[in-house]
Amino acid sequence: MPEKKLRDQGARCMECGTPFCHTGTTMKGLAVGCPINNLIPEWNDLVYRGLWQEALERLHKTNNLPEVTGRVCPAPCEGSCVLGIIEPPVTIKNIECAIADRGWEEGWITPHPPERRTNKKVAIVGSGPAGLSCADQLNKAGHNVTVYERADRIGGLLMYGIPNMKLDKAVVQRRVDQFAAEGIKFVTHCHVGVDLPARTLMDEFDAVVLCGGATQARNLPIEGRTLQGVHFAMEFLHENTSKLLDYGAAHGDRQISAAGKDVIVIGGGDTGTDCVGTSIRQGCKSVTQLEILPRPPEQRASDNPWPEWPKVYKLDYGQEEAKALQGEDPRRYLVTARRFVGDSSGNLTGVEVVDIEWVKDAQGRFSPKEIEGTVRVIPAQLVLLAMGFLGPETTLLEQLQLEKDGRGNVKADHGKFRTNVDRVFTAGDMRRGQSLVVWAINEGRGAAREVDRFLMGRTQLP
Ligand SMILES: Cc1cc2nc3c(=O)[nH]c(=O)nc-3n(C[C@H](O)[C@H](O)[C@H](O)COP(=O)(O)OP(=O)(O)OC[C@H]3O[C@@H](n4cnc5c(N)ncnc54)[C@H](O)[C@@H]3O)c2cc1C
Ligand code: SF4
Repeated sequence: MPEKKLRDQGARCMECGTPFCHTGTTMKGLAVGCPINNLIPEWNDLVYRGLWQEALERLHKTNNLPEVTGRVCPAPCEGSCVLGIIEPPVTIKNIECAIADRGWEEGWITPHPPERRTNKKVAIVGSGPAGLSCADQLNKAGHNVTVYERADRIGGLLMYGIPNMKLDKAVVQRRVDQFAAEGIKFVTHCHVGVDLPARTLMDEFDAVVLCGGATQARNLPIEGRTLQGVHFAMEFLHENTSKLLDYGAAHGDRQISAAGKDVIVIGGGDTGTDCVGTSIRQGCKSVTQLEILPRPPEQRASDNPWPEWPKVYKLDYGQEEAKALQGEDPRRYLVTARRFVGDSSGNLTGVEVVDIEWVKDAQGRFSPKEIEGTVRVIPAQLVLLAMGFLGPETTLLEQLQLEKDGRGNVKADHGKFRTNVDRVFTAGDMRRGQSLVVWAINEGRGAAREVDRFLMGRTQLP
């Protein structure tokens, strides 16, 4: 967005007496306002006045990865912007991105290692946004931080989940390099619990923070699941980014390719959208996305008022691109897969689907009911399962004998982040379940504060 327009947007901010945009709470389980309490009205005003460097300082007070959230955050802040009651909200996310990008372009973001070091050592397992924010905060407090990552690159889902067109990997790497220059030690290719026993970390470090994410994908164990051509979304997305980074446009030979194929993506969330966008870039013949829920309304429903997260129909980038190419939104609502169909060589040829309706049972619970006469087969040579995640992997949990909560995540209270094992903390998706980058930053920062308090007896970290 040109500077004039950004400043106009900053000027639209009303500096509300009680700004909801930075509330950082939840209503009905969904975020209301910015979960990291970004000082939005303050930097909106600074941008309006052309004071970009001051705006960057304010932004860095609450956000360790503003160039990331400025690109990929679904912006609950905008959903609760007071202006949004009567007209489109301030384009907060855009302004955030512009402040951070300008900071890098102008050379204002330079390494600032801490002036003094404590003699405390902290190990962080997992290098996603939770691990990175936690590491940055603890490093600022002077602790010696080592981040262990099993992948070949640092960044967690910022590197190998969210695709390059949505979050350029150079943007992620630039921030990682900055953290390394400030003294954080990164160890890649190290699967803690496999390559390095978890107990070794406990022996060598004063505290351990587990930020391993919620990487167990939900399966769809229906007939034909083992046919060639049915894959988890993350297998497809990880390989795509990995090949892109290693081979560039030539991308090497992919194990899973959408090129020339009819692709069906099962699941209508963010991961599904990324599969649609990636399939298009790989040159698929067609792409269809199946969603078991109904199409959301165009406007907020009466039971979803401001400042709640607006559950309304949106064309995200993947669907917008598919619509431009195929003439319609690729999503099919209220549809479920019954079985995968294959040929005699075990290759996928299609998916048998059926329309459903949601009916209430005697206990008032809704469950899907098939609609008679709607069974059909949609041709497909590639199916990508993007139906969410079930929680963290169990290796570390078992080795450290960590307690789980009712959903299978590592048990620890938000705000405390301490597990049942002494000196072991946890943050991000591993504690919360699959969520958002901005919540991972919230948790990483909170866990750093609690680790600092634990190590030093007091803390000045926010
Ligand atoms: C495809 C996809 C797209 C998404 N798009 C968005 C989006 O647009 N906007 C948004 O806000 N959120 C998005 N999300 C959600 C967001 O990426 C996650 O909520 C966030 O990354 C969680 O951060 P985390 O640090 O807790 O874990 P992760 O980012 O999952 O990082 C965990 C890291 O820990 C490593 N690890 C795990 N166990 C070990 C071990 N034992 N030893 C060493 N390393 C280990 C893993 O390899 C991984 O790198 C998306 C998620 C997916 C899957
Ligand atoms: S991090 Fe997300 S919620 Fe917070 S200001 Fe940025 S876009 Fe809004």
